[in-house]
Amino acid sequence: MVHAAPLITTIVSGLVLAFVLGALADRFRISPLVGYLLAGVLVGPFTPGFVADQGLARQLAEIGVILLMFGVGLHFSLKDLLAVRWIAIPGAAIQILLITPMGMGLAWFLGWSAGAGLVFGLSLAVASTVVVLRVLEQKRLVDGDAGRIAIGWLIVEDVAMVIALVLLPVSIGLLKTEGAASAALLPLSEMLLPLGITLAKIAAFVGIMLLIGRRIIPWILHHIAHTGSRELFRLAILAIALGVAYGSAELFGVSFALGAFFAGMILSESELSQQAAAESLPLRDAFAVLFFVSVGMLFDPWILVDDPWAVVATVLIIVVAKPAMAVAIGVAFRLPAEVTLIIAGTRAQIGEFSFILAGLGLSLGLLPEHGRDLVLAGAMLSILVNPIFFAVTARLRPRFERPAAIEDGPPDRAPALTVSALEDHTVVIGSGRVGSLLGEALRQAGRTFLVIEDRRERIEQLREEGIETIIGNAASPEVLAAANLGKARQLFIAIPNGFEAGQIAEQARALNPSLEIVARAHSDAEVEHLDSHGADLVIMGEREIARAMIERALDAALPAADRERALPRMESA
Ligand code: AMP
Repeated sequence: MVHAAPLITTIVSGLVLAFVLGALADRFRISPLVGYLLAGVLVGPFTPGFVADQGLARQLAEIGVILLMFGVGLHFSLKDLLAVRWIAIPGAAIQILLITPMGMGLAWFLGWSAGAGLVFGLSLAVASTVVVLRVLEQKRLVDGDAGRIAIGWLIVEDVAMVIALVLLPVSIGLLKTEGAASAALLPLSEMLLPLGITLAKIAAFVGIMLLIGRRIIPWILHHIAHTGSRELFRLAILAIALGVAYGSAELFGVSFALGAFFAGMILSESELSQQAAAESLPLRDAFAVLFFVSVGMLFDPWILVDDPWAVVATVLIIVVAKPAMAVAIGVAFRLPAEVTLIIAGTRAQIGEFSFILAGLGLSLGLLPEHGRDLVLAGAMLSILVNPIFFAVTARLRPRFERPAAIEDGPPDRAPALTVSALEDHTVVIGSGRVGSLLGEALRQAGRTFLVIEDRRERIEQLREEGIETIIGNAASPEVLAAANLGKARQLFIAIPNGFEAGQIAEQARALNPSLEIVARAHSDAEVEHLDSHGADLVIMGEREIARAMIERALDAALPAADRERALPRMESA
């Protein structure tokens, strides 16, 4: 019965194993990525036991790419994209032009044809969208300079890939008849037409999205929101993301990723639809995990035994030459050292684009199977070491920068934070709509306080105002410890997520039994949760809003005491 349902089996086995191994990896303080990849290897065809459907896994991963790129588009405006073109276009071009010959060199050394070398080199030159986006999102860098540049770079690479995929089959004659100068001229002229058509299609796609999509998509959402059905609204978002991606791939030959990115970018113009859309994408993370599982499935561990030196050389090109070149480009374009290092980190891997290229190369008879296996091994190993790369550069970064622990960025855990010297102080967690007003009031009252916040831009603003800050997720023990809570007087947890707030309250209570903890909640369940986790006072946002509205409604009509009484009545209704 189960064997008749390969899609379900693939999703379930992939997610369950990824979860178990990811949690296990986390337990040993390694990136959960390692667990996801390993889960893939285990359900893959190269290890004994159960084998999931590789083709299905790859398609599921593609849905992950679509949703991720859609989500990224939501953070991006056309202006942002154009603002980074000065580095994204030359950066991607230089990297492709210089890394490809390195791959060709290795291919030549391995005795392959020039065509095989070209496909192999191109596969090593491009980076994986999923890996880049995951890192940027996790470290909350999407909105920063480094994030914008890295994403702009990805988009350029994406366009280059679309062109390469079209031109490869056309140029096959040239690539197979190596060295024949006369043959070179003919296919070159033959290549111009498909190149022109491809570029025209991409331009038509972008034009249509900007001129028509920009009106129609928000219009659809507006009307769906009017129906009052949340289910329909979420469905609309999903349909737009997947529909535009698929439709644009079918009609214009652009990649799924590019289509989804543009769909998201169009929605990003209205902040409201952007937020609404972002909320309705919880599926994204699950599919991104399946991407890593599908990479693991493709990996044949035997290649490490069969041809270790070729694997080492491939991996070195990916994890040493590529980031080194990105650093050189960053220096040449005078990017700040911190931004350069982040971008270098995002370059040090390969993924889905490379698989597509290698697959095409194989089907055209250009790339030997061994070449594809090397690309797969290179992807697996480079993705595996990518978190280490970021850990190392996070250590390096302060050397280039002012000596502030904050510059380390908000890593997942264990940031090298120095413990605050403040005593008898107030700690405010979150500096958004609620926390920023509170902080401002504390500042005006001349209180000693510090702010914990995980958005880098916000932290920078606060620091410019001279306010002591700690960057990071306040639910992490290291971040809380850095706030010197043991010596603090009051703690205000001004974040909207009740579960995180509960975690924070519990840890804070353990650190300081006499601390006054005031928390924010948005539902009765959250109030109860926070109460039981050590908060002294829980302020429920919606109740306060109701209070203000009641006040307004009954303003002159009722004495204050009656207004107060009106509130509990309303709540129990
Ligand atoms: P708002 O809902 O507008 O008051 O914004 C809440 C603020 O809290 C945002 O600036 C978030 O970046 C920040 N925030 C949310 N969760 C955490 C957390 N666990 N640690 C630190 N800051 C957080």
